[in-house]
Amino acid sequence: MKMPNLAERDAELLSKEWSALQEALVPPARAALSAIVADHAADLVDRFYQELEKDADARGFLSQDLIRNRLNGALQRWLVALFPADGAPDFDEMARVQLHVGAIHARIGLALKLVTRGLRLITEGLIYAIVAQEDLRQSRRAMLRVAASTLGIAIDIMNSATVEQSRRTDQNAEAFRLFALGKNLSQEREAQRAAMAEWMQEAMFVIAAREKMEDLADLRSSEFGLWLTHRGGVLFEGTHEIHRAQDIVRRIDAELLPGIRRGEDLRSLLPRLNSDAAEIRALVLQCFSEASRIEGGHDALTGVLSRRFMDAILTREVEAARRRKQKFAVALIDLDYFKLINDRYGHAAGDLALRHCAEVILETARVGDFAFRYGGEEFLVTLAEMDLPEAKAFGERLLERLRSREIPMPGGQVIRVTASIGIAELCGEPDFQRLTKAADAALYEAKNLGRNRVHLAV
Ligand code: GH3
Ligand code: MG
Ligand code: MG
Repeated sequence: MKMPNLAERDAELLSKEWSALQEALVPPARAALSAIVADHAADLVDRFYQELEKDADARGFLSQDLIRNRLNGALQRWLVALFPADGAPDFDEMARVQLHVGAIHARIGLALKLVTRGLRLITEGLIYAIVAQEDLRQSRRAMLRVAASTLGIAIDIMNSATVEQSRRTDQNAEAFRLFALGKNLSQEREAQRAAMAEWMQEAMFVIAAREKMEDLADLRSSEFGLWLTHRGGVLFEGTHEIHRAQDIVRRIDAELLPGIRRGEDLRSLLPRLNSDAAEIRALVLQCFSEASRIEGGHDALTGVLSRRFMDAILTREVEAARRRKQKFAVALIDLDYFKLINDRYGHAAGDLALRHCAEVILETARVGDFAFRYGGEEFLVTLAEMDLPEAKAFGERLLERLRSREIPMPGGQVIRVTASIGIAELCGEPDFQRLTKAADAALYEAKNLGRNRVHLAV
């Protein structure tokens, strides 16, 4: 995993402050300060760990042995290295150490406030030690300033790395939580695998026929490619595997396909295409096998995503569409006269009908789309990279399939359910709620106009 970085602006300011600090001490005073730190390092570090041990959480993973054998020495070395006797330590090198330590604190879950308090005690202890040196009157002010600011800068950098690293960890955890439900995960794994196989098959067919080679579609815009960018991207956000798979797709589109379309050098390009495709499959499977260990996420009755994930996903999808200047639409679907089904056949039969409808929605949506249970018998489907006419066609297709789905009711009867659909397209607005509101208004219109139809937001 990548180490946190200092923001460029922070690095610039801090490194200026750092060099000014180094010039604040004449060489003998620097050597004296270094000696004081070396003399007191053991005591100061003891204070740090005494403070940490007061905390029940920290006690849990910091054993006495670990502190005695490893951490105590490491912290002493850290402190001494900040105050070398000869010449100023290099800013970049110093910063790299702090970023590394800060990232470790986040990974082991050491609370920021605890570390900060412990380091404040070290700073305070060092200040006392300097003040207690009777013979250093002349340079004492400068030494105090250098000691406090040196530790201050190091701690700032360390803490910024801790914050950055925890933020990433939280993001990853969130992305994984989105996909927890084992049963749908295996379904999804098969669906994207089939989509990838289909693209390969089609490509091989075109190439074998040696006709219309220019029609060979990019992998990125295929159903699999969309899955990889959107759902795959959210599900496995932050993992090395998903980024690598996305890179390979880009490489196939940019480097292999243009040559293949021109029919050039197929002997070397086709084996490369095959091995790249195999690598993508392996990477994606690895993502799935890691994620399937985690539980949670889908609506129990209908199998679509539960609404609690909707905000997180819509936020991400809308942001991504804006950044990439791509189309993005949502379809809001409300089943027609559903109350009548409950009234006539009972709630359990209503549930069964609801499940059938959800199934039709999942079958009609592409594997890269997200389908949520928006409300009781309402669903929201994301339509990435679709403009309004394409989204309308999706809606019509869905209605057609719903109409033709026969749902068995108790007593041997068969019913069909229709739905009304409101569709809205992103127009550059950052807040996804404007999009869902527009889709809601369009749905309302669809109901008013007689139901069993698609209506587009104006
Ligand atoms: P329309 O949308 O066409 O205006 O009519 P409707 O009868 O579908 O009305 P509305 O959308 O306002 O009401 C939804 C009804 O769906 C209310 C409730 O009886 C039923 N419903 C909602 N959630 C469930 C559920 O989980 N199971 C069952 N069986 N019924 C549900
Ligand atoms: Mg409703
Ligand atoms: Mg309804």
